Amino acid sequence: MGFCAEDLAAALKGSLGKDPVSHYPVLTLRGKRTLISTASALASVDGKIVRLQESPAVIEGCLWLPAEFLTSVLPQILGGPVAVRGAEAKAPLAEGKVPPKGEAKPEPKAAQAQKGASVSVGAEVAADSVRLTLAGKDAVLADVAQGSNEIVVTLAEGGLTGTAQDVGAGIVDGIAFNQGGRTLKVALGPGFKRLESLKLRDPDRLVLVFKGEGQRVNPPPPDDVQAAPGTADAGTAPGGPPRKTAAFDTVVLDPGHGGSDTGATTAGGLQEKDLTLVLAQKTAALLEKAGLRVILTRSTDTQVPLVQRTAIANYNRADLFLSIHLNSSPAPSARGTETYFLSRNATDLWSTQLAAKENTEGTASGATADSGLNLVLWELAQTSYIVESSVLAEAIQQEFNTLLGTTDRGVRQAPFVVLEGAQMPAVLVEVAFLSNPDESKRLTDPAFQDQVAQGLTQSILAFKARYDKPEAPPPAS
Ligand SMILES: [Zn+2]
Repeated sequence: MGFCAEDLAAALKGSLGKDPVSHYPVLTLRGKRTLISTASALASVDGKIVRLQESPAVIEGCLWLPAEFLTSVLPQILGGPVAVRGAEAKAPLAEGKVPPKGEAKPEPKAAQAQKGASVSVGAEVAADSVRLTLAGKDAVLADVAQGSNEIVVTLAEGGLTGTAQDVGAGIVDGIAFNQGGRTLKVALGPGFKRLESLKLRDPDRLVLVFKGEGQRVNPPPPDDVQAAPGTADAGTAPGGPPRKTAAFDTVVLDPGHGGSDTGATTAGGLQEKDLTLVLAQKTAALLEKAGLRVILTRSTDTQVPLVQRTAIANYNRADLFLSIHLNSSPAPSARGTETYFLSRNATDLWSTQLAAKENTEGTASGATADSGLNLVLWELAQTSYIVESSVLAEAIQQEFNTLLGTTDRGVRQAPFVVLEGAQMPAVLVEVAFLSNPDESKRLTDPAFQDQVAQGLTQSILAFKARYDKPEAPPPAS
């Protein structure tokens, strides 16, 4: 059970809009911005992620939120617990008020049935749910009965229209009804777990959400992701992406900047883009020697849009994305390494400013303006990589603290565009300060460049070892 976000926004005098970057719905309440993912069971209140049991969804113009939204997300917005009456609560909460106990929640008013009015049937299929929508005045008066293997919807008035589309099998094995008939039967599959129903007004409709797992549709959606060369693609599940065989074998190195985007520069004519390419190439050589497949986002002095860089990593199903940069600061004394992993919330002002600086590189070509690969999306969909990314960031940071003899900087979080959308652990390292005379001199020294490449390689191989461990044969017992 759930409710429409529109109702919640109206009841609490908030507003519902769209995030300009991610195009996800944004609920603004009491000055707090709650981003709602319709692709995963996550919401984000002022950048703080809240996990939900069920994914919000757009159902015929209604942004459907699970009832738990009231207990898990709303308190974060209102700054306190919220009393919820019943699972079907429609959020009739007045400004700052807890609804009095025992007050009956207004039920959707029974629509006046029009004789002969029709109810159209539509279905929407996802891997974990099948949504069936019956639209029309008579739909909200329909009776829904659950049997052992089927759900039967019976209209009191009117008739059903539409074609029973092939919804595949798994959660729902089929939908059957006769044109103009009053009975619709939904055959439940082995993947079915539960049914949620929702009656909506303006326009009137009955939405039935069959939840579960493993809904398969034929034919499977085209897979535009290329399997890594040399990896078998056998045993691909229907509709599932090709799986790689090795646990960790592909690394994408991203030399920062390139082409007309020089990155940081020095009065002496050094350019960040040239040095990051050298460092990436040296690191690639070492990683390849260690048996890894390495892909560079650029191997020449060219400008590659930021989003394309992570797209390359995703396309190649990389296990790791490492973006290499050099730092700069108005203070010549600033020195040391900083390693970043992606987060909407920057660690501090410095991190915010740095991210803003690095993020400008792609916009020069206008490439990031309408990107669907954005921070918010990444944050919501790729939360699982944050921990792994932080582990790698720590490893790199420790290597470089030793190499550069500094400990005053460290691992930080910031919203880097170049890390957005990476479907793998992704880290950005600011190796050293080009603005520091000492460090810029060292950066041009081939021996130091080799050390940097070794440090990055060590960190990556140590990180890889974490992945390889579960692949090792279990100890004999
Ligand atoms: Zn940079």
